[in-house]
Amino acid sequence: MHDETKCLKFAAAEGAFASLSVPVHRASTIVFETVEAYKNRRSAIYDGYSYGLYGTPTTRTLENAIAALEGASRAMVVPSGFAAIALTTLTFAAAGQRVLFPDNAYDTVRPFADRFLGRLGIKPVFYDPLIGSKIDALLDSSVQLVWVESPGSMTLEVQDVPAISAACREKGIMTAADNTYATPLRCKPLDLGIDISICAVSKYISGHSDVVMGSIAVNDEAVFRQLKDHSRFMGQGVSADEASLVLRGMETMAIRLDRCEATALSLLDRLVAHEAVREVRHPSLLSNPGHSFWARDFSGSTGLITLFLEPWTKPVLASAIEAMNQFAIGASWGGTKSVVAVLEQPPLRTATAAPHDGPVVRLSIGLEHPGDLTASLEEGLDILLSARPAAMA
Ligand SMILES: *Cc1c(COP(=O)(O)O)cnc(C)c1O
Repeated sequence: MHDETKCLKFAAAEGAFASLSVPVHRASTIVFETVEAYKNRRSAIYDGYSYGLYGTPTTRTLENAIAALEGASRAMVVPSGFAAIALTTLTFAAAGQRVLFPDNAYDTVRPFADRFLGRLGIKPVFYDPLIGSKIDALLDSSVQLVWVESPGSMTLEVQDVPAISAACREKGIMTAADNTYATPLRCKPLDLGIDISICAVSKYISGHSDVVMGSIAVNDEAVFRQLKDHSRFMGQGVSADEASLVLRGMETMAIRLDRCEATALSLLDRLVAHEAVREVRHPSLLSNPGHSFWARDFSGSTGLITLFLEPWTKPVLASAIEAMNQFAIGASWGGTKSVVAVLEQPPLRTATAAPHDGPVVRLSIGLEHPGDLTASLEEGLDILLSARPAAMA
């Protein structure tokens, strides 16, 4: 055998090998024993293996794990949380039809809806996330898909998901939930009557701020196959290396969530009482919009807290945030390390009024010692207080 060929033919290692971890199966080409099997490879896109883009044993293992957690018969992974939203929407919406989104949806949804869906002739409609069964008034034969996101991004309103899914089901309208906040450990949208549950795996499921991925879970085989076909038409796939990182992160998701939740809960009283904070949002608070739906439909909360600050904090906001050394400044969340995101003003709303006119700060509580996080937060809060108008002091 020539050296060039020797470089291609590796002798198998001797002896049995078994590991507790899931192997990383990298692939573009997948090989077949027979010409007949190769000819039939297309049918393997849903369950078997036909090409690395459409699945490997590593990604299938992750998909099965996510399906089991979501209480779904099927799940697929896609390149990002937003890819899951886009794929689901584009698979089930057609030109001339309408898609409904809650007014507090993840921020990229709005430009996607207005600029991208609009160009395809699909009409986006934004609705009050607290609409509940009154959504019925918006449901006519032109509505093809209704999204929920509960709690919603930044403002954390909890939706009456069973009421919305029931109203849609009655009219044969498909529903999809962005379950990123809760993860399937805290809420199972399919059990609440939703047809499709998506997650940004980038957040708590992977849990270490080093992977971007999304998941889509369903109970209907035909829906699954439509989604899988469309992911193929759009060239979407997930690498085994990243799936392996997520499988590793998932092993600690339950204890990470418990810890993030416990630390977040321990901070709430202090934040609620603070003069610079006009309102605290966390679904466990009685005052949180939709709290009763959270108590009914969720098995717990997480480490996300949103603060609506007094408008007078604006001049010192940046220095207060920068003084919070335990909080990295950044947009994403759900990792091991605490992160703070700042909006100078409330996010755009078109169906509802902004809750307050002051700055909005989102804390993603991580796994640091609660004492260190409290001290770090106090430093920021002290700086905010320094801007309090004299008349109030
Ligand atoms: C982050 C996020 C997304 C998008 O996920 P990516 O993986 O970053 O694309 C979607 N929905 C919610 C609620 C999110 O927080």
